[in-house]
Amino acid sequence: MADMTCQLLVIGAGPGGYVAAIRAGQLGVDTVIVDDRKPGGTCLNIGCIPSKALIHAADEYFLLREAAGGRAIPGVTAGAPALDWPRVVDWKDGIVNRLNNGVTGLLKRARVKLVAGRARFLDGKTVEVDGETGNQRITAESVVIATGSVPVELPMLPFGGKVISSEEALSLDAPPARLALVGGGYIGVELGTAFAKAGSAVTIVEATDRILPLYDADLVRPVAARLETLGVEILTGAKAKGLAGEDRDLLVEAVDGSERRIGADIVLVTVGRRPLTEGWGREELVLDMDGAFVRVDEQCRTAMRGVYAIGDLVGEPMLAHKAMAQGEMVAEIVAGERRAFDKRAIPAVCFTDPEIVSVGLSPEAAKAQGIAVKLGSFPFQANGRAMTLHRDDGFVRVVARADDHLVLGIQAVGAGVAELAAAFSLALEMGACLEDVAGTVHAHPTQGEAFQEAAMRALGHALHV
Ligand code: FAD
Ligand code: NAD
Repeated sequence: MADMTCQLLVIGAGPGGYVAAIRAGQLGVDTVIVDDRKPGGTCLNIGCIPSKALIHAADEYFLLREAAGGRAIPGVTAGAPALDWPRVVDWKDGIVNRLNNGVTGLLKRARVKLVAGRARFLDGKTVEVDGETGNQRITAESVVIATGSVPVELPMLPFGGKVISSEEALSLDAPPARLALVGGGYIGVELGTAFAKAGSAVTIVEATDRILPLYDADLVRPVAARLETLGVEILTGAKAKGLAGEDRDLLVEAVDGSERRIGADIVLVTVGRRPLTEGWGREELVLDMDGAFVRVDEQCRTAMRGVYAIGDLVGEPMLAHKAMAQGEMVAEIVAGERRAFDKRAIPAVCFTDPEIVSVGLSPEAAKAQGIAVKLGSFPFQANGRAMTLHRDDGFVRVVARADDHLVLGIQAVGAGVAELAAAFSLALEMGACLEDVAGTVHAHPTQGEAFQEAAMRALGHALHV
């Protein structure tokens, strides 16, 4: 393979890397991107997209089961539904494939060269790519490292056999009859809900005192209630100790020290992800670290001139849209523009049932920063659209500065509220005050009216509660 030179080399074609490459290409920067996996990274291939496809398929099946059992909207009934899981997985793979091709096409259109292989630094400007057709050296003026993250493995539950990570969980032949999940965070609760709806008997083992500890208790309560109605068993304050006995049951230690065995066909370990800081020759570079992450400044510059790092590799939140925003920014910096990462809001959405959205500061976070706040919350029980959707659990909550009413944070929990993340983020990014949100005409009947009413309530004049 002939050696190459370029202005920008991007290592890793996940949402961070491919966005950086496309934007750089659009700006006329001669760009090469390297990955040994199809473009799209964790998110597109084994993360966001495939998990949301399976979550939606399980939702549809569950609704049919509810209708068959006479639990749907009165008057809506159905015969017993069937679930052909391998076909669902094929459908999911088809979506991933379409998006892989889409990203490949976008890179091509931006004149980015896509090199298949694993990259390894020789020095700060040169990498060697170990590809299928041999080794190739690429020398670049600037490099963006976007190698992402991998699942955390527990020493007492190494991956293999019935112990799997989220990657394998997305391509199982069938929903396991008994599924034990270790870790009740994002992936555990999202996939646990989906498998419960698909018919698995699910147990979630969570080390802290509640599931989804990242979100405040009010937001998580409707999700925990729904899991209970789905028959999911939740063990909090519990630690997995390994597999035990002939049947290789999951051994769990409760908070009081007592032990319990959980029979499981599959043990899915979802205790977090760690940045991928090895395997690409970090030892050849002089990078500062920030704990397990590569340290970067507000322009995603590492300690080495011309070497940038973005995405899951550089810290929380480990979310695809943060990686993309950093990728876009770095490309513009490399192209000579003046940019810094100064986002006011990075939304977080949990695709549970009901969904959770959080943007900006929670009431607790504002309090911890010593900010006096006004709060307004509006329940979906008083929202006409929620009633017509046959789901009125949850609420929207607005957190604003007490003195000038600047909106600091917005949270919601409710069926389908993920789509409200756009309105919430825009309000924060534009520096909206309570009066702006309350004074906007929101379409009727929509769940968005609950956002307006929450702002009105914070101002002391809600209309519908
Ligand atoms: P990655 O997407 O991890 O991409 C890194 C790429 O680098 C990979 O393709 C890898 O092959 C490549 N690479 C690594 N080393 C090398 C090397 N030496 N040479 C060449 N290439 C290399 N986030 C959300 O925002 N919303 C969600 O709904 C969501 N759902 C998720 C569901 C699951 C099951 C999982 C696991 C994650 C989910 N995430 C979600 C998180 C999201 O996937 C990550 O935040 C995102 O993919 C990070 O992007 P990245 O570009 O930093 O890295
Ligand atoms: P997570 O950090 O969301 O949750 C891990 C959970 O495991 C935590 O609740 C933690 O207390 C628990 N835990 C840790 N060690 C444990 C142990 N030994 N026994 C029992 N419980 C233990 O991690 P995740 O669910 O693996 O997801 C990884 C990352 O992927 C997330 O942090 C997020 O950044 C991203 N993600 C995002 C989405 C989304 O945006 N909707 C969806 C999935 C994943």
